[in-house]
Amino acid sequence: MSKMAKFFLEKNSMALIEFENETYVSFQSFPFTPIIHLIDALYSRFPDRARLMVRSRIFCNYQPTVACLAAVKVSAKRLSFDKSRCEPRPWVDLTHSAAAPIFETRTSPTSPEQTEIVTDFEQHEKTHTELKKNQPQHQLDRPVRAWGYSSSDQRIWITRNLSSLNPMRHAEWCLAYSILEHRSRVETFEPLNFAIWVSLKPCKMCAAIISQLASAAPQGSTVQVKFLRNDPGPMATHTVLDGKITQMS
Ligand SMILES: [Zn+2]
Repeated sequence: MSKMAKFFLEKNSMALIEFENETYVSFQSFPFTPIIHLIDALYSRFPDRARLMVRSRIFCNYQPTVACLAAVKVSAKRLSFDKSRCEPRPWVDLTHSAAAPIFETRTSPTSPEQTEIVTDFEQHEKTHTELKKNQPQHQLDRPVRAWGYSSSDQRIWITRNLSSLNPMRHAEWCLAYSILEHRSRVETFEPLNFAIWVSLKPCKMCAAIISQLASAAPQGSTVQVKFLRNDPGPMATHTVLDGKITQMS
């Protein structure tokens, strides 16, 4: 098991939700915490009724992280830390369901140029505007795009906002998930050097997840984050990354 995986592994950490006489549970599931994984898995497994399911209270047996609290705020309703509710009983275990879609990955011997990324962001917005004309309102995602580059293995990840499918799946969320999932497979102990670029300033949830990604990386790793446009909305102000990220010039 990699150091990153160990960082997340707290014995028997779990989160559950009860809905229509059924209990749905998620245990610690690297790269994400049980609460985050539970919400994501509900939206992935039960797309037609997840919004209804997450109106029920989520219970967990561990102290929720900043990222957990932000995820509940974005995608669910209520959360309680209550060990007594997390005793074994018949339940539907969602621990191994769902994986974030990777929009695109490729390798590059050098770090992508800022102009390349900005051009890609602009092209994405343009395409999105074209598509928008033919789509019903409820299917519209904000045209947010994220790039991640690891100079340790010359790999590039590119993701986009998919929140109409699943409110957790902001571009940065998909990016962090993809990177963590990849790192857990390669099991390296070498320091990682990541650069992350986002077309819009990360919200509280994404900032917390990127911060979690940075904390989980081996000692000596660096994670730099830059965003193109500021987001003055309440969800993107006072995030855990404030003061640590810069706006692209
Ligand atoms: Zn976000």
